[in-house]
Amino acid sequence: MRAYVIGNAAIDENFRVERLPGEGESILAGKGSVELGGKGANQAVVLARAGLPTTLIAGIGSDTRAERVRGWLAAEPLEARLLPIAGASTDLSIILADGEGANVIVTTVDCARALTADAVLPDLAAAAPGDLMVLQGNLGLSTTRALIAEARARAMRVVFNPSPVRDAFADLLPQVDTLFLNQHEAGVLSGREGAEAVRALLRAGPSTVVLTLGREGALLGTAGGVRPVPAVAVAATDSTGAGDTFQSVALVSAARRGTGIDAAALRDAARAAAITVTRRGTLSAFPTQAELEALLA
Ligand code: ATP
Repeated sequence: MRAYVIGNAAIDENFRVERLPGEGESILAGKGSVELGGKGANQAVVLARAGLPTTLIAGIGSDTRAERVRGWLAAEPLEARLLPIAGASTDLSIILADGEGANVIVTTVDCARALTADAVLPDLAAAAPGDLMVLQGNLGLSTTRALIAEARARAMRVVFNPSPVRDAFADLLPQVDTLFLNQHEAGVLSGREGAEAVRALLRAGPSTVVLTLGREGALLGTAGGVRPVPAVAVAATDSTGAGDTFQSVALVSAARRGTGIDAAALRDAARAAAITVTRRGTLSAFPTQAELEALLA
């Protein structure tokens, strides 16, 4: 099985702040970091580090940021298909983290939004039935819709993480197999919270819905019902990338055992995400290949 992650690859500028600023406020930041980010790149890196053959397909600018993104991805055990977007700047996220687990993130999506399904299709030529197509909310709506149609035509399994969320994503749900989302996204797409949201989303189409609840853990929704899976209690310093770690490790845990997403997959995911939240930054916070191999053994 191979995962095709089609999404964004961005630069994350991380700033460490004492507390998150209010409207109109100017505050000072401590030492931060600049590293690879973007939900597409994040999810692909963790899938690949966890041992699943992974192709990342993302739009990229023709600027110095693009060279840095290429360099970081070259060091990861994945296949990177970075498609140049004429006239666009490589996407950038500004992340403020308060050192106690809270953060705010602002992201540009010029390259992600300019990526077309036609540009992506040649890189899906070898995709086989049962392969995963992993999508997030950064691409344009028509591109997302066309890619999901392509996945269905190829009998791939569609994994969707509607982040950042848009109301229009509700129309895509009948074509999605596995939906991962957090509480905010579940509220936007279903108008409900918690287990009720999971049940409503299951009725909309996906056979598996995973709702993450930060330090409260996650809810797993399948035809068998909705069940909670706790988080691992740790002293969190920076939650950036927790959801991406959780989703990717859940997918690989299930794939390794030849099952659908089950409670064991979410327990593995919670252990991996607990590593991410105890480290600052994005790429540098993700569990290493060795850590994931030990965790999933
Ligand atoms: P982000 O956007 O920050 O990457 P998210 O909102 O997509 O995250 P969360 O629901 O915050 O995702 O977290 C995903 C998983 O990570 C949780 O289900 C939990 O297992 C783990 N996690 C998140 N925060 C904590 C925490 N403070 N302590 C322990 N585990 C955590």
